[in-house]
Amino acid sequence: MGKLFGTFGIRRIANEVLTPEMATKLALSFGTFVQGEPVVVGRDARKHSEMIYHAVMAGLLSSGCQVVDLGITATPTLQWACRQWNYWGAMVTASHNPPEWNGIKFMEKNGKGLDREHEEPVENIFFQNEFKRASWENIPQESQKKDVREDYIQAIISKVNAEAIREARFRVLLDCANGAPSLITPYLLSQLNCQVVSLNSHPDGFFPGRNPEPVPENLTDLTSLLKNSNFDLGLAQDGDGDRLIVIKKNGEFVPGDLSVSLVAKNLAEGDNPGPIVTTVATTHILKEIAKNTNREFIATAVGDLVVAKVLQEKGGIFGCEENGGMIFPDFVWGRDGARAAAQLLHIMATKGRSLEDLLDELPKYYQVKTKIKVDPEKKEKILEEIDRITAQEQSRTTIDGYKVILGDGSWVLVRPSGTEPLIRVFAESRDREKAQKLVNQYLEIINGV
Ligand code: MG
Repeated sequence: MGKLFGTFGIRRIANEVLTPEMATKLALSFGTFVQGEPVVVGRDARKHSEMIYHAVMAGLLSSGCQVVDLGITATPTLQWACRQWNYWGAMVTASHNPPEWNGIKFMEKNGKGLDREHEEPVENIFFQNEFKRASWENIPQESQKKDVREDYIQAIISKVNAEAIREARFRVLLDCANGAPSLITPYLLSQLNCQVVSLNSHPDGFFPGRNPEPVPENLTDLTSLLKNSNFDLGLAQDGDGDRLIVIKKNGEFVPGDLSVSLVAKNLAEGDNPGPIVTTVATTHILKEIAKNTNREFIATAVGDLVVAKVLQEKGGIFGCEENGGMIFPDFVWGRDGARAAAQLLHIMATKGRSLEDLLDELPKYYQVKTKIKVDPEKKEKILEEIDRITAQEQSRTTIDGYKVILGDGSWVLVRPSGTEPLIRVFAESRDREKAQKLVNQYLEIINGV
């Protein structure tokens, strides 16, 4: 990984590290790299996104790039627009991070996050100040303002059985995290004839409703409201709308592993023989679905960018992550929360089944997920020990961390965090006790070092 970019773009504290000057320099580096070709730009609803946004536009214009300005929009909407027009992209967003953060995600011309091999030259231009600026008469005079939200919504509707969804008249409680999806998902669901009640659905960079990361502890308003009312399901997004979390009508949180499996199962029933692509940290329900439908199951390193890349290279039917991220290769080369919501309703409507019934039909696996803080000085030694012990196992993969798959299909993954002094231990088994036992076994090893 380079000095600037993280797993997807750069993220820093706004105006402390990510200043307008830095944003301009970054955009100028990107503009230099793309040699003045057109760039679609968008931003999330953060307090300081507009500041960073103007800085990004200035940098792009300075390098001679024509700028198409989408204004406040969700990340997948911008990625969709890039793919439609074959334009590069730059999205000002810090996704689900707390309000003081901001960031920039650059996109390839097909809308996929910028490839690693393209990040490197951008970094080199940035650090060596090797910018190529347009001469004054070649600086584009004005950006083209475009609002693609309605086109994007219509494009999603064209991908699902809208008639069936409209007939079902679903009652949906939707939490937009006061983020960019506030401007998209409620309208999409309304057009699908859902009875939508939206929470936190006005864009507000202070995130007054909740922390924008869609994890159970941040969704208590949504879950308690669901318990005390009569909806078919609850949906929650993150700040830039690429993630979707599903909640049952009784307020019970549906783990990402299960919501993605539900969608994967449905797509795998189709004729396309392509593989299912996910990460090593995601449920093996997907592996079973792939096996049952005679297709390949591909597990990549953790990160939506890697999943999208492999999905494209291998001609996969669906890409997903354990956090509920879903990638539909016929639509956007990245996670798309709004499309995921429509797809889920499509399944419920066309099967005529409730969310609960559909989840019950999935193969039963039990998961235990934990993380343990470790002394940073000991981290290396711990990982050496995990390496030594797991190397003795017959089926081990080291694509990302150390994953051991046992003969009965149970597995355990030990994976260090790249940014914090943390080690994550995930296990999954058909036997609940065995999953816990596997996690305990490796926690003991970690603690014993
Ligand atoms: Mg996000």
